[in-house]
Amino acid sequence: MHNAVILSIGDELLRGKIVDTNFAYLARKLYFLGIKVSVHHTFSDTEEWVCAGIDSAVEMAEIIFITGGLGPTRDDTTRNGLARFLGKDLVLNQRIAQKIREFFRKRNLEMPENNLVQAYLPDGAVPIENDEGTAPGIFVNYHSKLIFLLPGPPSEMMTVFKSVRLILQKELDLKPKSYATFRTIGIPESLIAEWVGKMTLPDSIDTAFYPSLMGVDLYISSDNPDDVESAENILSEKLSPYTFARDEGRKIEAVIGEILRRRNETLSVAESCTGGMLASKIVDIPGSSDYFLGGIVSYANSAKLNILGIDEKTLSKYGAVSRQIAEQMSFGAKSKFDTDYGIGITGIAGPSSETSKKPVGLVYVALSTRERNYVRKYNFFGGRNAIRTRSVSAGLNVLWCALQFGDIEKYPFEDGGEFC
Ligand code: AMP
Ligand code: MG
Repeated sequence: MHNAVILSIGDELLRGKIVDTNFAYLARKLYFLGIKVSVHHTFSDTEEWVCAGIDSAVEMAEIIFITGGLGPTRDDTTRNGLARFLGKDLVLNQRIAQKIREFFRKRNLEMPENNLVQAYLPDGAVPIENDEGTAPGIFVNYHSKLIFLLPGPPSEMMTVFKSVRLILQKELDLKPKSYATFRTIGIPESLIAEWVGKMTLPDSIDTAFYPSLMGVDLYISSDNPDDVESAENILSEKLSPYTFARDEGRKIEAVIGEILRRRNETLSVAESCTGGMLASKIVDIPGSSDYFLGGIVSYANSAKLNILGIDEKTLSKYGAVSRQIAEQMSFGAKSKFDTDYGIGITGIAGPSSETSKKPVGLVYVALSTRERNYVRKYNFFGGRNAIRTRSVSAGLNVLWCALQFGDIEKYPFEDGGEFC
């Protein structure tokens, strides 16, 4: 297996001002390319440290990735550090200089003279185009050690990495990992882990769980594609009711959107404690106007009464956070917008306004379909943001289940909630 070192450059990282997401991104991508990252170091952005960092990295691995410090300012010294290590001068690359001038001209901006330092590369180094910004990546083959410099801003780093990947494939005999993804919703990580622990998967399979407030992703990988396939079959049996997507990066709101569009059906929402978060997630998906007609943030009781048409007596009898009001909210949205589905969410996100009967984290999620209304009651834990995000996830989950399975009362929910 090929070996790599990743060097992150920057005092901002060492001061804890920014989190090293570039490292995480690179490490993950390299793992799946079949490249083992043995060491990761973070260095202060001085020419001396960068040079020393590269010097020790080439002793340890055949591929070296360096991210950060390619900006135009004086504290950006990665180019100089590499030049010092190589014992080469920095020379102006006319093509890159032209590209940088062009970058500013297109945006109708005056180019600060110091931006041109980004067109200086150690003699013999190869620039890697960066369409997201002005700093090119840099590639050097140093006695068969492959050294890559990548810009610090994450979007630029990712863009440049696409080209780096092609260079790696050309220079090395890579054996990428085979892998598969299960994106799940409405089931706790601990339960999936317990199930997976009891399954007999092929020995070569690595499993990794990535939980978030919206759901849990399970990745399996192996050097052997057949093993991945058989593990996928075993896992699917148990996990398929909770798996909304099998490809990385695909979101539940996109899956829901596709189903609604295909069936020519529409959706609306009424939100209290989530304050528009659910609508916002739905609208994150391009083309959502095909099926999402709108949402009402009915935060105050008056908004629930006046805009959603909720019954005043029910509200004073049961309170705003109740099964009855959640149901009237989803039904109210569905009726006002004249949609096929309506989702209603009402709950106590905290940290205050807890009562002995209604604790923080109590959330009702309702779904109205053409046939009937459903309400699920949850007791979420966590801070305000966690409770609100979990509520959004529950709303999407309930709708997705209804779209997939029809009558959801038979669906094997594992989301900690209950029908009420
Ligand atoms: P630099 O190229 O080091 O001047 O970095 C420019 C900007 O990119 C920094 O201000 C950060 O916002 C971002 N950045 C740099 N390094 C990283 C990293 N390792 N992870 C995430 N963001 C980074
Ligand atoms: Mg900088």
